[in-house]
Amino acid sequence: MSTSKRSLKGFQKRKREMKAPYLGQISLFWCDYCNAPLLDNIECDICKNKGHKIPVSPPGDIRPAFADDYITLWKCIDKLFGKRVGETLLPTSKIALLSRIGGLDRTEEVIVDGKIIGILQFNILINDFEFLPKMIGGIFIFKIQEALNLLPKKHIILNTDGIPFILNGKSILAPGVENYSEDIKKGDHCLIISKDNPSGNSQCIAIGVARENSSNFQEMLEKNYGELAKNKAHLNLSTKNENTNIEFDLNQKLYDSNDDFEQINKLILLSLKQAYQTNYQYLQRKIKKSLKFIKRTIEEIKKPVAVAYSGGKDSLGVLLLVWKVLDRNFKIFFADTGLELPEVLENVQNIAKDLKMESNLIVESANDIFWDLIESFGPPGRDYRFCCHSLKAQNIMKIINNIYGGEKVLVFLGQRQYESLNRMRSKKVYVNSFIPLQIAATPIKSWNALTLWLFILFEPVKDFESESLLDVSITPLYYKGHERLGCYLCPASNLSNFKLLKTSHPKLYERWFSFLNSYAQKHKLPKEWVQYGLWRFKQYSPQWKNFADSLNILIDYNSPDSSAPLNLNIAKGFSQNSDSDFSIKGKFSHTLIIDDFLRFLPALNKDFHWDEVNGIIDINSEFKKKPYSLKIFIDGSFILNSKEKEFDFYKLTELLMGTVSRSLYCNNCKTCVNVCTQNAIKSESGKIIIENDKCINCYDCITHCPFFQLAKKAIENVNF
Ligand SMILES: [Zn+2]
Repeated sequence: MSTSKRSLKGFQKRKREMKAPYLGQISLFWCDYCNAPLLDNIECDICKNKGHKIPVSPPGDIRPAFADDYITLWKCIDKLFGKRVGETLLPTSKIALLSRIGGLDRTEEVIVDGKIIGILQFNILINDFEFLPKMIGGIFIFKIQEALNLLPKKHIILNTDGIPFILNGKSILAPGVENYSEDIKKGDHCLIISKDNPSGNSQCIAIGVARENSSNFQEMLEKNYGELAKNKAHLNLSTKNENTNIEFDLNQKLYDSNDDFEQINKLILLSLKQAYQTNYQYLQRKIKKSLKFIKRTIEEIKKPVAVAYSGGKDSLGVLLLVWKVLDRNFKIFFADTGLELPEVLENVQNIAKDLKMESNLIVESANDIFWDLIESFGPPGRDYRFCCHSLKAQNIMKIINNIYGGEKVLVFLGQRQYESLNRMRSKKVYVNSFIPLQIAATPIKSWNALTLWLFILFEPVKDFESESLLDVSITPLYYKGHERLGCYLCPASNLSNFKLLKTSHPKLYERWFSFLNSYAQKHKLPKEWVQYGLWRFKQYSPQWKNFADSLNILIDYNSPDSSAPLNLNIAKGFSQNSDSDFSIKGKFSHTLIIDDFLRFLPALNKDFHWDEVNGIIDINSEFKKKPYSLKIFIDGSFILNSKEKEFDFYKLTELLMGTVSRSLYCNNCKTCVNVCTQNAIKSESGKIIIENDKCINCYDCITHCPFFQLAKKAIENVNF
């Protein structure tokens, strides 16, 4: 059927586009004189020199490393390469940056001394972080090991014959190896060392990934046969041209990461301040541009102004910018999802106090709604986020309705394009159909995380009246490894976040994971579904599908139970019945609960005839200005006819399926009440009522129903 093929093509196109991770311009430069980052190809504001470009991988949302990041890196590096190596490579006196890249879980490039020295990644199989050195990182680590007189760790030492092969990218084979350290485990990233290079010194010339444990190496050397390690990276022209004469302070004070946390963080922030100075004018330009946007938008929109504050860094940035424009003449909205970390709630109150805006702060809490919703929705997923709409959007709508009596409000948001594809594509001013009363504006859309951090950490905040400097509270969780705040059980979280939550907030962790465990038990889902966070998806991306397949994890979501998802079978596909009549026949997997179905049907079509005796609903109407007839039977089957070949059978069937799922699963989450711009939907004694005379059949309430996402997905797999 042509229409379904069209939408299928559209779907595949969308899928392809999702692979492109470029979310914004990636620009990171480094001033080698000041050993500090430059946010663009600019002159350093301290020494007036230009920097060199750092080839950061997309999406390029570079952020500063904080105390917990340093400590994690120290531990990972020391574990592999020896005590003190991590802290010598990455002392608190140097700025370290992290840049998120693609991966199953948290995966970040580590930048220090103007080089990408390696990758910090959370390995979900071992439930811990690991450090994977890049070539330049290997060179530095080896230098430090030698300078600290450490015993060789994770070394494979080449003989003279082996060196040229490795420099040509060949594997590390037994005939080219002279010796090795005995601590190597299969899969380890090892330093491949040449002893006899022209300068006479030992040098790390490659990074290898061990094929075997080193206990098996001796046999390989004796037989003079076998591959010890795969060549992951080796010295080449570009690494040879890089400046490797970095100074390492071998006598610096070492910190006890547990006891000295505050001290470590203080020193790191002190170092980071240098980046504020090297980028000073760039930052001022960036700030000025955003302030101009805020002023212009306020003038153009002419509505009351608010900032949606979340306790996170992005909305803090926006709050401070709007403050610079309006003084205290705006409101601060905080939509508490009921799933916020206590430090976040505290920060919201602190910020209002810091800015002397307590009376401008409006908090609306969803309390325990989430825990009611999951009883019928199950856990939320990255591709199934009923929670954002039901919790966040409803709270904001409530606030706007209460304070402004249904008038539209201009709300500044801290969204940034580097966060996701959706955010990159959204306009700088827009109305989200889930919150029709909110005109959203995004003044820091083009900022990367480093720009934002330098602004909120170091740009002075002045009181308008007294001109005195204000101290602005930043949620300390950021320094403690929480790279993202928000609902603590958000399906967008990495497993590294949940590991952290387990120790930082054990009670919250326990509540969520006991729900997941009992849900898994009830639905006969394997333990890996909880363990590897597979609950975070309704449908797996290829990456996650491969992961699940590699562990032989089979998940059958269609296990029969009362809450089994609605499915559709097309009994007779798109066909021409007579010269002038096209039709499809289908049957839903569930029989209709007729009273509920009739309650929701008006949103699809108001002119229907209900034949109670025979259990048939008859509709003769138009869809997208083309006539059709539809018979729906109480057993869940239907026949859809049109005389027009170009009739959009697919879309109408999708809306019908959405209406059936609403009628079966509606749990009164009220998302539809909020999205209706006509005030045609109300909730009365736990039931959704659609008022016929007000409804304009825009279908927004059908397509915004959380269950519509599932219906839509089910229908994508149906063969029309
Ligand atoms: Zn400089």
